[in-house]
Amino acid sequence: VSRFAGQKVALFGLGGSGLATALALISGGADVLAFDDNPASIEKAGAAGIATGDLRSADWTRIAALVLSPGVPLTHPRPHWSVDLARVHQVPVIGDIELFTLERQALAPSAPFVAITGTNGKSTTTALIAHCLTVAGKDTQLGGNIGVAVLTLDPPTPERHYVVECSSYQIDLAPSIAPTVGILLNLSPDHLDRHGSMGNYAAIKARLVANAETAVIGIDTEPCRHIAEGLASDGKPVTRISQSAVLERGVGFDGRSLVRRMPGSDEARFDLSAIGSLRGRHNAQNAAAAVAALTCLGIGDEAIGEGLRSFPGLVHRMEEVGRVGRVLFVNDSKATNADAAAPALAAFQRIYWIAGGLPKEGGIASLTPYFPRIAKAYLIGEAAPAFAATLGERIPYEISGTLSVAVEHAAADARAAGEDAVVLLSPACASFDQFRNFEVRGDAFRTAVASLPGVEGIRG
Ligand code: ADP
Repeated sequence: VSRFAGQKVALFGLGGSGLATALALISGGADVLAFDDNPASIEKAGAAGIATGDLRSADWTRIAALVLSPGVPLTHPRPHWSVDLARVHQVPVIGDIELFTLERQALAPSAPFVAITGTNGKSTTTALIAHCLTVAGKDTQLGGNIGVAVLTLDPPTPERHYVVECSSYQIDLAPSIAPTVGILLNLSPDHLDRHGSMGNYAAIKARLVANAETAVIGIDTEPCRHIAEGLASDGKPVTRISQSAVLERGVGFDGRSLVRRMPGSDEARFDLSAIGSLRGRHNAQNAAAAVAALTCLGIGDEAIGEGLRSFPGLVHRMEEVGRVGRVLFVNDSKATNADAAAPALAAFQRIYWIAGGLPKEGGIASLTPYFPRIAKAYLIGEAAPAFAATLGERIPYEISGTLSVAVEHAAADARAAGEDAVVLLSPACASFDQFRNFEVRGDAFRTAVASLPGVEGIRG
């Protein structure tokens, strides 16, 4: 990244993406001073040739920018927090997506760049678009919040396609972001801790689509519909997408197929009914966003259809991990809040539901409409008593405590019932009370399922 060549840049947060960012800045000629609260990270950075030091004693009058790693909070109670020092000295506070944006502007401003945000479905949509572009034969780079730091991607060229998942944190720290296609899938109250209010959270996400050459916006949630209307009335090209209706203009869904009606291209249908990795209406929203974006980029319908059909899906998102007789085991560990768990509960009928963990605001009251599908719930982690209270008399449940006990009991009960059934891990909670992250939780589920007697694996 050459934007800060010859200038001093402060960087806070030396995890994987912080390290990559520091190295990219240094190779572009910046003079980087980096810090982290964790001495082990500082040591690792030092070994990689990165200058480290306490930013509180830096000369802030000479610093051109403060770069924060994703997840580093903007506000911190401790005195002389770097962000406060930066603000006092009018130093811009940015993140790695901003650095990528500046690099693209400098090297290849026409490089196709799709940026994806929303409360749920970001990773699925990002992976799906990247997959379809690869199927279409494009040089495709996938990164951002999905787990690949953008500054580790190959440098921009006019033909190279970038598909980047953006959290609201990252958009907040990317004032210059201006993608070719900006996608806003949906908005529901999550992540309120950092952004203070729904209005502020929505405004941050709205900036991504407002700055895009073309906006693709899901109109199934009210805040997004409002944003789409506002942009369209300002004359911005907006493609609307919906998982719940066929649209006069845009990409909609009739329960079976996506129906695309966009100016400049023929009406087209894409049948999703036989695509296991895109099961459920929520995935119709993700696939609709992909079809809209790919159409905007000029990708042909044959490649789009082939890409949808061959999409392998993501691990930990409604991932089928095994089967014992008539019982299917589904890992939806990524569902860390009630909204994210709803699609999985909506997708199956007789559900032996494993839920719980570190509770999120709102609990599972919003899932009440799906309770009739639940044969029994197996509650784990700190949320168990609160979830039990919500289930009350309506649904049989047990407090299993740990995931392995829950899997064992759910498997036994589901088998004994002798019907087609699903043992579903869709916890509606964060994992941090019992696991390092949702991936580790999902892997633990897969391992527990793999050790059940008579299990057949579904994929490797
Ligand atoms: P994100 O990257 O935004 O967290 P993912 O694609 O990883 O989203 O999906 C996370 C969870 O959210 C999954 O468990 C899935 O059940 C649910 N989900 C996926 N897409 C959507 C959507 N469009 N609307 C609502 N929920 C969704």
